Amino acid sequence: MPRSLFAALMLVPAALPQVTAIRCGRFFDGRNLTLRESVTIVTEGNRIREVGASLAIPAGAQVIDLPKATVMPGLVDSHTHMFLHGAPYEDSLLKRSLQYRAIWATVAARKTLLAGFTSIRDLETEGAWYGDTALRDAINDGLVIGPRMQAATRALSITGGYTPYGYSPDVDVPRGAQLADGIDGVRKAVREQLANGADVIKIYADHRRRGAHDPDMLTAYPTFSFEEMKTIVEEAAKAGAKVAAHVYHSQAAQTAIRAGVASLEHGMYLDGETFRLMAEKGVYWVPTLMAYLQGMEDPSKLPPARRRMMLGTVSRHKETFQRALKLPVKIALGTDLSGNHENAGQEFVWMVQYGMKPLEALRSSTLGASGLMGWQDRIGTIEAGKLADITAVDGDPVADITSMKRTVFVMKDGVIYKRP
Ligand SMILES: [Zn+2]
Repeated sequence: MPRSLFAALMLVPAALPQVTAIRCGRFFDGRNLTLRESVTIVTEGNRIREVGASLAIPAGAQVIDLPKATVMPGLVDSHTHMFLHGAPYEDSLLKRSLQYRAIWATVAARKTLLAGFTSIRDLETEGAWYGDTALRDAINDGLVIGPRMQAATRALSITGGYTPYGYSPDVDVPRGAQLADGIDGVRKAVREQLANGADVIKIYADHRRRGAHDPDMLTAYPTFSFEEMKTIVEEAAKAGAKVAAHVYHSQAAQTAIRAGVASLEHGMYLDGETFRLMAEKGVYWVPTLMAYLQGMEDPSKLPPARRRMMLGTVSRHKETFQRALKLPVKIALGTDLSGNHENAGQEFVWMVQYGMKPLEALRSSTLGASGLMGWQDRIGTIEAGKLADITAVDGDPVADITSMKRTVFVMKDGVIYKRP
């Protein structure tokens, strides 16, 4: 191109931001537990400009008609893993290169976005080091498509407190998490993770270890001491990062809560006292129901010992979830997916099957999860001024929660990625 023409083109005023009007069959604002009808959302550029009943369509706006759909804020998955791809765990860690896993992660990110999830907390790469920060940055730079991300990077556990287990002590096997011990050790590990781009710190507050096993539950032992956890929380807080604690049992959970973590992940054996403590401190619960239900469609196919343990675990998880529904505990939706990321909407189905009201399940993935991320000012509800992250599903999730698996429209940051 001749230089003069190039210069002339540069003087052309920038195009005005795209204005889009979305006419919603049904509308969930992310906060109030009602579905409204005849609502129109107007977005301008990457922001929501106006929301209301029977709004006039602005001149020049592109119009999206979704008469049979339910429109809602872009969904948030508070606990997922872009760097796992459904293979046996040790295959991911020991047989796939970091490059392959990064390519896979771009596929998982695309699937997650197209399933309607416009924001995620990626709660550790499971041995793929700082790959999640690269994925987050590549998405933000527009190189690949995917949700907004908070990256936890490597996660932290103690020596002996993470998989793979059972190898000869003579073999230096890579572990799925960073292992650190003592006040100085954990402080340095948190600083390293933050220096390499972590947005959130994940710890294993308890984990499976060699020793006695209860045949009816996933046994786990406390890992970090209170002082270690407190150091982790303090160090993370200096950089404005929250701490998420993987935990099964109440003992380790209570240590983590007192140390100041923001969320408990999984928690299938949490007791009433722990939930009371969580409510008092404003700690979120991310129950990740579907993680323990995968492969349970036909338990008869499992080896007997594993079948007994998983059936016991699933029934306790359900009982704990139902108990929590009666308490003022803040629940944020998380899938803990390790593959099949297109299936993230299944978590809503389990939450409702276990007794949660459909719109409460939706709210756990909108207002609830955005609060846990600390992004409640930007996302999580559809209101003027917030980022234009909008999802729509086919049908009415109140009548049929499986409609959450039929995403028909996805807008993130004002850009449409999926439409009927
Ligand atoms: Zn997980």
